[in-house]
Amino acid sequence: MPVLEIELIPVMSDNYIALLHDPATGATAAVDPGVSEPVMDALTARGWGLTHILVTHHHTDHVGGIPALKAATSCWVVGAEADSRRIPGLDIAVNGGDTVVLGDAVAQVFAVPGHTSGHIAYWFPDSAALFCGDTLFSIGCGRLFEGTARQMWDSLCLLRQLPDDTRVYCAHEYTLANIKFALSIDPGNQVLRCRRDEAESLRARHLPTVPSTLAMERAANPFLRADTADLRHALGMPEGDPAQVFAAIRRAKDSF
Ligand code: ZN
Ligand code: FE
Repeated sequence: MPVLEIELIPVMSDNYIALLHDPATGATAAVDPGVSEPVMDALTARGWGLTHILVTHHHTDHVGGIPALKAATSCWVVGAEADSRRIPGLDIAVNGGDTVVLGDAVAQVFAVPGHTSGHIAYWFPDSAALFCGDTLFSIGCGRLFEGTARQMWDSLCLLRQLPDDTRVYCAHEYTLANIKFALSIDPGNQVLRCRRDEAESLRARHLPTVPSTLAMERAANPFLRADTADLRHALGMPEGDPAQVFAAIRRAKDSF
């Protein structure tokens, strides 16, 4: 089973660009390159040649580096068909249910609308790695710019089903701020408290809190727990429909 080597490049104030490398074939992808130079530097340092760019959604902090990287490397740009006019240089348009081949590795594509209407995520089961852009963050989720709360809840439920050991590569380092909010509505959650201690220790050493794991997120991320009794009661919606509880959590976070 091919297992990808994965390197995270911190860029701008809080974005991560992931580099994926298949050692058997040399195939190498950058996920959501908002800028180009740090990617070129990391490729040079590793001796890797860029073959693909995988895009989760069209926001500038995820696509800004594409034109320069494509000009420098002639790589293939993969992204959602729905965003074919909003992703610069898109070569391979995909939809939920499609697969993407990177050397010997294969990703499943999930349609996860909510943050944007065309947002997708890439799951590499053999590498236990999920690249979910701005849909799922560690202990948080993306803001609803183009989708409804129900769409985002359905998207999160889709990702929530993946195996426990799935490494969750989100595109931003928002974990500490997310934990502060999460503790305000779920203060008794022991896993969440452990995550806070771990994240504080990592950030004190300037290390990323990404990737998280799906087991951690299922246990401690309030946005994945909108259908639990704890969160329903915390939001004062004991009979609430999960998508409505999710919407209330999202509104509370927006004004936190
Ligand atoms: Zn975004
Ligand atoms: Fe972003």
